[in-house]
Amino acid sequence: MADVVEDIKGRLGIYDVVSKYVQLKKAGQNYKGLCPFHGEKSPSFVVSPEKQICHCFGCGKGGDIFTFVQEVEGVSFSEALRILADSCGIKVEESVGKGFASKDVKDEYFKAHDLAAEYFKEQLFKTNDGKKVLEYLYKRGVNDATIDEFKIGFAPDVYDGLYPLLLKKGISKEVIIKSGLASAKNLASDDIYDKYRMRLIFPIFNYFGQICGFGGRALKQDQMPKYLNSPENLVYNKSKVLYGLSHAKSTIKDDGRVLLVEGYFDVILPYQNGVKNVVATSGTALTADHVRLLSRLTTRAVTCFDMDNAGFEATVRAYSLMSEKDISVKSMVLSDGKDPADFFKEHGKEDFLKIMNGAENFLSFYMTKLIEKNDISDVAGRRLVLSELMPLLKPLSAADKDYYLGELAVKVGVNKDYLYDELSNFKLPENHPARSSGSQVSEVGFKMTPRELLIAVCLYNFSVFGTVSKRLNEDYFSDDLKSIYKALEGQYNSSRSLEKWDFDSMFSEDLKKRVNVLYLYAEDSYGGFNSVTLETEVIQLIALIDRESKESRISDLRRQIQVAENNKDTEKLQGLLLQLIEMTSKK
Ligand SMILES: [Zn+2]
Repeated sequence: MADVVEDIKGRLGIYDVVSKYVQLKKAGQNYKGLCPFHGEKSPSFVVSPEKQICHCFGCGKGGDIFTFVQEVEGVSFSEALRILADSCGIKVEESVGKGFASKDVKDEYFKAHDLAAEYFKEQLFKTNDGKKVLEYLYKRGVNDATIDEFKIGFAPDVYDGLYPLLLKKGISKEVIIKSGLASAKNLASDDIYDKYRMRLIFPIFNYFGQICGFGGRALKQDQMPKYLNSPENLVYNKSKVLYGLSHAKSTIKDDGRVLLVEGYFDVILPYQNGVKNVVATSGTALTADHVRLLSRLTTRAVTCFDMDNAGFEATVRAYSLMSEKDISVKSMVLSDGKDPADFFKEHGKEDFLKIMNGAENFLSFYMTKLIEKNDISDVAGRRLVLSELMPLLKPLSAADKDYYLGELAVKVGVNKDYLYDELSNFKLPENHPARSSGSQVSEVGFKMTPRELLIAVCLYNFSVFGTVSKRLNEDYFSDDLKSIYKALEGQYNSSRSLEKWDFDSMFSEDLKKRVNVLYLYAEDSYGGFNSVTLETEVIQLIALIDRESKESRISDLRRQIQVAENNKDTEKLQGLLLQLIEMTSKK
């Protein structure tokens, strides 16, 4: 197996592979081009022949030839292997490439989520706070069968309920922390505590109905954030999971439509009342991947969002993404501007379906809303309406264009010919998804943290490390960055140079990848900087990191103070308060 991989790597360079998909231009040591994974105008996709990797600093995607082909073709590792083997004439045995999913680790993640859901459910029914939350659920109209079916639960106001329980059941610390069920400053830390506290818990199910994440709604006033969602991990990818889809999928097929709503309650209450083809995104806006999932089940969608600005934008976004996948979109608004959850307090399935069946085509709906929002008796108001609509009308077929321009002409009171002129003069912005079919709108905003930047600069120009080590030490970093920092420190102390730095034998594959990407970033961003400018950059980064870490130590102290208060540990409390006063006065 490893032989085949090495064999392919020996025959195909990263430049050969990537240049089949992306037009590349030479940039210093590297090549640059427009990222194939997200729409962009100026290139942030860098290919390094020296390191045999590629990386997009806009969306964070990239890797070696195998990961690149996996991403760009949307295939598994073994399929990517086959594609690459074919292209350089290597034969691959049928059995090769199987068994690559780390099934055991995934199972542990799922087990952790199942155990957590069980724990949250028990807390809902068996604790006093839980019973109050249960009352709240009943008041919102949720019944016992639904609580059971969606496995709704409650996270009590304790720091050490779930974490020790999961450990006892044999779940590793790493899996617990990476699932976002417990918090810790880093993996090596012993200061670990439950992350979900005093929250109503909605388990999030993947397509197959396995629990892969949680959404926790705040229950105390001023509790932030209002919704705490699981971080992405081995089994949870926000942009590929729709809340409710595992429950809804068969009804979506039968009904021929999917109802898209905004929140957990907006999914479960229609579902409970017999409108079962309903889904929502959780913790992210709708993505192209979500739409791809839905497009396997249906060609028709109905949106039912709040008509505030956020809901309005979400509706437009849903339309743009769905029409690219040939899903037709209608939009509905419930009477009195209610959301679906509240609507069912006073109405039943029949009333809801009447409105849903009468939903308008999105474009007609959008036109009406835009005209309501703007004063079209005024030239500026009319311009605004047209400028919002043109990007949506431009990609339509001739027949659809004619239909909607006719409707618009009547609604705005202008001549249709004039609108045709407007439309033909209108140019879609270069990065508009409709201009280049196949490109996806990426959800990921990739940004380096100050700590990552600092390490990147050190890797790129090691002479700055002296300045860094005078002001910071390894405790300022965690996980990967800590390991890299320690290695750099060792190297600095022994030779002050990275020339003979043998990090290949020192680091794991993942860590090596991390080092390469950081180096590439620095090379790309700081390539033209002289050492004085770099030094200034480093000093600014150090100040930023110093401030951040002070702030996090203060919030840490506050948390410990709360625990000491709860435990009525006066002695400890005094010590902690003194520390806090000292910290905040230094600030
Ligand atoms: Zn990108």
